[in-house]
Amino acid sequence: MKALDGTRLYFNRAADHLELSEDMRRLLLTAKREVQVQVPVEMDNGQLQTFIGYRVQHNDARGPMKGGLRYHPEVDLDEIRALASLMTWKTAVVNLPYGGAKGGIALDPTKLSQRELQRVTRKFVDELHDVFGPNNDIPAPDMGTDSQVMAWIMNQYQRYHGFNPACVTGKPVEMYGAPGREEATGRGVGILLVKLLGRMGRKPQQTRVVIQGFGNVGSHTAWFLNQAECKVVAVSDRDGGFFNPGGLDVPAMVRYAHANHGSIRGYKEAEPISNEAMLELPCDVLIPAALGGVITSKNVKKINAPIIIEGANNPTWPDADDILYADGRTVLPDILANAGGVTVSYFEWAQNRQYYQWTLDRVRQELDRVLTQSFDAVWEMAQQRQVSLRTAAYILGIGRVSRATVLGGIT
Ligand code: NAD
Repeated sequence: MKALDGTRLYFNRAADHLELSEDMRRLLLTAKREVQVQVPVEMDNGQLQTFIGYRVQHNDARGPMKGGLRYHPEVDLDEIRALASLMTWKTAVVNLPYGGAKGGIALDPTKLSQRELQRVTRKFVDELHDVFGPNNDIPAPDMGTDSQVMAWIMNQYQRYHGFNPACVTGKPVEMYGAPGREEATGRGVGILLVKLLGRMGRKPQQTRVVIQGFGNVGSHTAWFLNQAECKVVAVSDRDGGFFNPGGLDVPAMVRYAHANHGSIRGYKEAEPISNEAMLELPCDVLIPAALGGVITSKNVKKINAPIIIEGANNPTWPDADDILYADGRTVLPDILANAGGVTVSYFEWAQNRQYYQWTLDRVRQELDRVLTQSFDAVWEMAQQRQVSLRTAAYILGIGRVSRATVLGGIT
């Protein structure tokens, strides 16, 4: 299955509940603009390498388009289209004044030097600076990109359009970033899981959690849940995972990864486990926080977790999602579960426009408020309509976007 087929299927289910016309569906499923660019860069060894970059601006009915920038070898137009549409529904579910977009470059950032990454990023902005902009389309970090990449984007954008820190979010705090942005997606995943456990009458102390991915989202999720007294029993990254049924020492693993270029490879204080086996461990909560398409009809029956929180975008294919729902499992969908990042990006953008910086406490408080309201709204919708949390979140998001489209007027 392609990523885009999956998001379309989820869209249409919610659109049926909303009784959206075929014309409105077609409008909402079509991207506003799609750009593909050539990114030729001289590598450190003097060779010329040409990368392909994408930016898909999906919808701006509710505000400027917002979405991450992904550096990964498997990036292609189909995936970026799917992720851009997810951003439209996500910003609407958490009721931020944004639309949705996504971008990416097909490359493996672990194989490039920092100087090469900087050249690629600046070249990409050279091609797209007229497409981006604080009132049009605001990039942010995603897989393979971080606050350093965002700082280069801000600096390169400034060469064309003058000083304007609101042109990109997820920047370093010393360079107009918001305190708490880096932790925000993982913290949001953690906040929402604790809310969900509360609704389900479960206690964090009796909750065993498995997390796939130990990058930005995975490591901050592990950190938050460890502090919330959940038992994080396994984590993994692209090189494999580690398991301890009694609970991992999360702070030690985070320190280890920091000292080891972000990787947990070679960690000695827990049992090694493969990524495939990890998904099937006995546990209470499984959190995919790396790639898309990791829960499929092939492995879904082997997954033991009764609760799945989608830290990653698009980790569950619809056929697997149907099986999970029929089995009575609870899936907190990506468009709500990982919305903490875009929420704090919105705070950063708002602060940049005022040249004012909030405290970390204020950022965390506001994040909690936005996610709590959104979680409650999705939960109520699911109860009211007797649908999964995913369909409920899509109904809420698509409903808001379609109303804004009609109110704005289509001529
Ligand atoms: P990241 O690059 O910081 O980390 C990715 C992690 O996944 C790394 O630990 C990497 O080793 C691991 N990984 C890569 N391939 C793997 C594989 N085959 N098996 C297991 N692990 C693998 O990326 P991130 O920002 O943490 O993003 C992770 C996911 O969360 C993506 O789906 C992204 O779209 C989504 N997301 C990120 C943000 C954000 O703010 N960064 C916001 C919303 C959603």
